[in-house]
Amino acid sequence: MQSPSVFHKLLLLLPLAYQHTSNDAEKHVTHWNYELHGENWGGTCSSGVRQSPLQLAVQKSLIVPLPRILFGNYDVKLRAPLTLENNGHSAHMDIPETLNGKRPFITGGLLNGRFIAEGFHFHWGSINQRGSEHSINKQRFDVEMHIVHRNARYSDLTEAVKHKDGVAVLGVMFKVVKSPNRFFPGINKVLSELPKITNYKQKATIPGSISLGQMLGDLNPRDFFTYRGSLTTPECEEAVTWTVFSHVLPISLSLVTKFWRLRDSEGHKLINNFRFTQPRNGRPVYYRTGKDLSGAYLGK
Ligand SMILES: [Zn+2]
Repeated sequence: MQSPSVFHKLLLLLPLAYQHTSNDAEKHVTHWNYELHGENWGGTCSSGVRQSPLQLAVQKSLIVPLPRILFGNYDVKLRAPLTLENNGHSAHMDIPETLNGKRPFITGGLLNGRFIAEGFHFHWGSINQRGSEHSINKQRFDVEMHIVHRNARYSDLTEAVKHKDGVAVLGVMFKVVKSPNRFFPGINKVLSELPKITNYKQKATIPGSISLGQMLGDLNPRDFFTYRGSLTTPECEEAVTWTVFSHVLPISLSLVTKFWRLRDSEGHKLINNFRFTQPRNGRPVYYRTGKDLSGAYLGK
């Protein structure tokens, strides 16, 4: 926490310097945390009009016939080493090229062109709170995974976040179940390494190999919400086309508790690392379903 007295001294003694710092702080939020779940973040995070996450609901969405999401090279093993890192805000993994030297990518949905997978990370809660960022039909879930992709027309993520069509994020929800009857080797391999990255900047190498698709378990990718929004961390750039799948994956409590033991750059518990939902401001949210009116799948 900042001391208000120091803040006010600066304000009184160094008015010019303070103004400069203030402008600087607006452009580059260097130090931020989840204490107020984003309510105190500056810049675009507070002035933006297309912010994320949102409350998603089938009844408040436009049900439209969109193409399904196509996954390129998601089934090919990723080139080692795969490194999970505690970046102070989440557990993050950069996505390298595959064994055939290509990059996993997505297209379809609302997306124009190819979006190359850059990395994934997670948002989680704590013993008494769920951690997902988006809600679906008024429900929040225990964990939300984000797979971040950048439009292939931009050279890197830094460049991509400057453009409206720069970034595509896939959101996948996880719900704790007592005894998951499905086992997802990819997700398990990655999350089993969490105890090695308890502290800020710690890294762990994932043993063996996984494909990016293995992080999706047995997800049904045919049903999803999609809309135009922002990154959910500073600078909250309004560069993101969101695709949030409505199918929820099961996860064991023992894996989720591993998230709760992480610590941030100040040594505080890294829990409840989700941003509060944001105003929709009249934006359309689209819902795609592979089901017909009777609820039967049409094979699409
Ligand atoms: Zn995220």
